[in-house]
Amino acid sequence: MPRVLIIEDEPKLRRSLQRGLQEAGFHVATAGSTAEGSRHLGDEPPDAVILDLMLPDGSGLDLLRSLRHDGCATPVLVVTARDAVTDRVLGLDSGADDYLVKPFAFNELLARMRALLRRTSESNRIDVEGLELDLLARRVVRGGKEIELTNRQFDLLAYLVRHAGQAVSREMLVRDVWRDETGVLTNVVDVSINHLRRRVERDGLPPLIHTIRGVGYMLKDHTWSG
Ligand code: CA
Repeated sequence: MPRVLIIEDEPKLRRSLQRGLQEAGFHVATAGSTAEGSRHLGDEPPDAVILDLMLPDGSGLDLLRSLRHDGCATPVLVVTARDAVTDRVLGLDSGADDYLVKPFAFNELLARMRALLRRTSESNRIDVEGLELDLLARRVVRGGKEIELTNRQFDLLAYLVRHAGQAVSREMLVRDVWRDETGVLTNVVDVSINHLRRRVERDGLPPLIHTIRGVGYMLKDHTWSG
């Protein structure tokens, strides 16, 4: 189920978007300010964001710029009452993927959301050594069997897959997967890696997650003999 974050300060519009999207099969989180929106984005990154520009504590455009600056590639649909061409250009230049002027028909918003998600879903499917990872649906299949993972295990695996062929240190994992949660020790990483291994490694299939002595871990897409 795709997850959408709505950042909109007008309560009536926010509720009606939430209801409509839920009925259309989306998992919806909502925020009424840029601060609340940032918090949601940090906690559990959504698959897409609907972003209002005029928010009580600042501009949606500033939030969007800082997201893109931090390397966040989540598709963003800007919805705003500003309809001047310069505003639309500014929105798109700031990293918006699409732009909808209020008032809009809900069906049009829905169609655009689907198009955004379709565009990203192709680049969100990765296949390594019999492991199929769908970053958008957060599904993992190996050897034809679906594998159940916790959110953290999924994030850990996705990180290793994105860095396939590179040695990833425990410090990188603490920083980027645990996001510097206080008190996370590198041995917590080792324990999580062991749990993940038990889930993804399959008899008859080449090992995926390799320990690189003195460094950390590496996901390899061919048999590693070191
Ligand atoms: Ca507003």
